[in-house]
Amino acid sequence: MMLAGLMQQVPLTLNLVRERVGDLYPNKTVTTRFHDRIHVIGYAAMLDRAGQLANYLAGIGVGRGMRVATLAWNSHRHLELYLAVPCMGAVLHTINARLLAPDIARLLAHAGDQVLFVDRSIWRTIGREIVLPSAVRHVVIMEDEVDPSIDPPAPVGTPATLYEAAIAGHGSAFAWPDLDENEASGLCYTSGTTGDPKGVLYSHRSTTLHTLACLFADGIAMRERDVCLPAVPMFHANAWGFPYAALMAGAALALPCRQIDPVALVELVEVAQVTVATAVPTVWLGFLDHLGKHPQAVARIASLRRLPVGGAAIGQSFIDGFARLGIEVMHCWGMTEISPLGLTNVARSDLDTEETRSTRTAQGLPIPGCRFRNVDAEGVPCGRDGTTPGELRISSPWAAASYFAGPADQAPSADSFAVEDGRTWLKTGDIATIDRLGYVRIVDRAKDLIKSGGEWISSQALELQIMNHPDVREAAAIGRTDPKWQERPVICVVLRSDAAEPRERFAREYRDYLASFFPKWQIPDEVIFCAELPKGKTGKIDKIALRRTFGSS
Ligand code: ADP
Repeated sequence: MMLAGLMQQVPLTLNLVRERVGDLYPNKTVTTRFHDRIHVIGYAAMLDRAGQLANYLAGIGVGRGMRVATLAWNSHRHLELYLAVPCMGAVLHTINARLLAPDIARLLAHAGDQVLFVDRSIWRTIGREIVLPSAVRHVVIMEDEVDPSIDPPAPVGTPATLYEAAIAGHGSAFAWPDLDENEASGLCYTSGTTGDPKGVLYSHRSTTLHTLACLFADGIAMRERDVCLPAVPMFHANAWGFPYAALMAGAALALPCRQIDPVALVELVEVAQVTVATAVPTVWLGFLDHLGKHPQAVARIASLRRLPVGGAAIGQSFIDGFARLGIEVMHCWGMTEISPLGLTNVARSDLDTEETRSTRTAQGLPIPGCRFRNVDAEGVPCGRDGTTPGELRISSPWAAASYFAGPADQAPSADSFAVEDGRTWLKTGDIATIDRLGYVRIVDRAKDLIKSGGEWISSQALELQIMNHPDVREAAAIGRTDPKWQERPVICVVLRSDAAEPRERFAREYRDYLASFFPKWQIPDEVIFCAELPKGKTGKIDKIALRRTFGSS
């Protein structure tokens, strides 16, 4: 018979974060770099404003389980929403600000949002185009720019208020309710790099556990003495959980608003003395390039020590480039459906020197709390030999068990989840190997694999190798339809120099360069030189667009 433990039933809710920040770290700060000014506010004042905000929301009828949407960049006001909305029992729906107006309207309707908080700079364009669903009863405009000449229009029939006016006059004391840890805290739609966006409904429990995992020494190792710069947008899987993790740890925050170009990031790192920063690899490739061209900027980023990077694969040259600046890159893997972190690359003590180096580019080991397996087409586990690729599946307290159905639809869940061994496993859609020590290496997204003559070619492996070439800045491999082979790989390349000579040399030599790493049939038939590669809504390379342009023979 089961014997129940006798420990306290403390619900795992974001109130643990909110209360801890108030108790222990009132004097820590959040620095926001708006495009025209630096704004600094202490955590105590930020929490007071979160209380005012909760009072405002309660006053307009926002209650438990109601959805509150944001269309906003990374700022202290967005952070206030991160705390106030879930801690009052409502659900924070962070919408990708790079979407087009009709797509935003569709997500607002699907989520059943009742209030929309939107940055003024975004509203300037979206406000004229969007047809708001009737469920959205209030629009609150956040003053991320101060140009008084711009007066954004109020949508027809929906009152619009300015954020500062909305919270002014409300007290900072709010009767924060006792929440159940399984109540929903946040809603985030996948960015749809390979398909339609799907809603992931986080709970307080899942987000709190994910937050704690970010503090593990072999997780992200967020610490009180850190200053954390999430350059990944706060609408993208909760900025990978970094804002909550920083608050829980007592670390200071530096938020870049929408500016994540190298010049802006260098300035923010210097002003806030940032120690740890995160974004997708393309952002850091630009940063590295900038520092190479402006060596005098290197001294300005001397405080930066660690770079947990995920969202897309990185190669050895990326890690080495930052190591030369004294910055440690930690490769991470995650997805919106798992809050989003699942793997971090930490060097095990039982690796020898050669193994340590060769595993650095793997996506990493499961963060404690996550179980991984890779399975073949029949769903049978492939085994941990480090070479047999299979579809990666995950079971974790912070992984989704199904998608959010919205008020009317069926949740598009069926083919994304499997029940095996009495557990729900999320099918990630990534193809990976797992080695004897548990290191997971992503081979490719299933949808990006190139099928040539019945054999699979990893687009990611080609890209990473090409990007180790000193002349290459960025690369993306795609399949081009082929009458004989079904598909053949071609590679789109951005060179560091746009002069004709290196281009001609590269076109002549890339086959020989790749020949020492790949069998002949995997080498791309053609190099397509591009001035830049198209990026999707989260800054990742948009392979759908590349396939549309270059994918037909
Ligand atoms: P989207 O699928 O629309 O890009 P997500 O932001 O949730 O939305 O991305 C999750 C996907 O990003 C993963 O399934 C994986 O394909 C890719 N990914 C994330 N981190 C890495 C990484 N370190 N290496 C390779 N791929 C990665």
